[in-house]
Amino acid sequence: MTIVEVNASKQYEVHIGPGLLPVLGPKAAALGKAQKVCIVSDSNVWPLYGAAADASLHAAGLETCAFVFPAGEASKNGESFLELLNFLAENRLTRSDLLVALGGGVVGDLTGFAAACYQRGIRFIQVPTTVLAAVDSSVGGKTAIDLASGKNLAGAFWQPSFVLCDIDCLDTLPEEVFRDGCAEVIKTAVLFDEPLFMELVRDGLRFDREKVIAACVRHKRDIVAADEFDRGQRNLLNLGHTFGHAVELLSDFTLSHGRAVAIGTAIAGRASVSLGLCDQGTATRIMWLLERFGLPVFTPHSAQALCEAAISDKKRSGDTINLILPKKIGECTIRPTPVSELENLIQAGL
Ligand code: NAD
Repeated sequence: MTIVEVNASKQYEVHIGPGLLPVLGPKAAALGKAQKVCIVSDSNVWPLYGAAADASLHAAGLETCAFVFPAGEASKNGESFLELLNFLAENRLTRSDLLVALGGGVVGDLTGFAAACYQRGIRFIQVPTTVLAAVDSSVGGKTAIDLASGKNLAGAFWQPSFVLCDIDCLDTLPEEVFRDGCAEVIKTAVLFDEPLFMELVRDGLRFDREKVIAACVRHKRDIVAADEFDRGQRNLLNLGHTFGHAVELLSDFTLSHGRAVAIGTAIAGRASVSLGLCDQGTATRIMWLLERFGLPVFTPHSAQALCEAAISDKKRSGDTINLILPKKIGECTIRPTPVSELENLIQAGL
């Protein structure tokens, strides 16, 4: 097992390794004061891992209840959020009790936001069961739900009490979902870590899960420690996301987030070459690795359509957009880009 310590506004540990689900109960009990735990999960994950999580919490002397909602991004909304808050109140959870997010990023984001709001904030534990949640969403304390006007528009910064990543849970992931999460792993390697990039080149989808997830979590931990509230450096984690969100939007969300991020990362690489920020070899290596993981690197949409979709982002401020562009493998830069230049830049990246 690998332990990564996170030092944000709250200190906590991320445990990564095989066979960890049975220690959820003892670790939750060791936090102290809690009597009741509400496990929040979705309709795919609960049948697979709900009983094991519940049994472990019970055996540690904790009372449990479970809130299970239909799997998928469509559930990460205000309705589920209020349903969950009401469920917590009906089950009389107090401020000293705990929530457990058992699932992927959707479960983690919804549970975290409910934890931040219920009785003005209670503790929660992240048990990520997708690659994306393991390497990205479970660490760093961003929580959110989607609004009708866009994704993640309501949320809070609320750090978990600990993160328990049982890599055995990844065995049941549909291959598409596994590959999707790998887009975030590749993103992390392009941002910070050439040796990790080379390891992914060598091993492809058979990478050492504990080692690679731990490497990604350490990078995320470092960024969060430097800029917990996303006022500067944390922006780097958006590599591939500005163009990716545009591709996702234009596909009417039929293209998965990971595939959209892969295309966005490839566009960022090619656009960076056109600006002279990186060489063609770097962009080619990024595309090659994404394709090795079965991820797409091109989009049929026009630069004009992508530009319009990118600037419709509700979280954009003013007339510039912060683009994250690779300089070389393991190093990227934040480039404030006037919206007026965006279409040409995207055209160069197609
Ligand atoms: P997800 O939670 O929808 O999971 C993907 C699918 O896999 C779902 O159908 C789920 O039921 C299923 N699944 C999960 N674990 C499984 C397992 N072990 N075995 C079988 N099936 C399993 O999606 P995701 O990709 O994990 O997360 C995407 C969400 O994360 C988005 O809402 C995104 O906005 C959010 N996100 C948040 C952050 C953050 O910092 N908070 C960062 C990145 C992404």
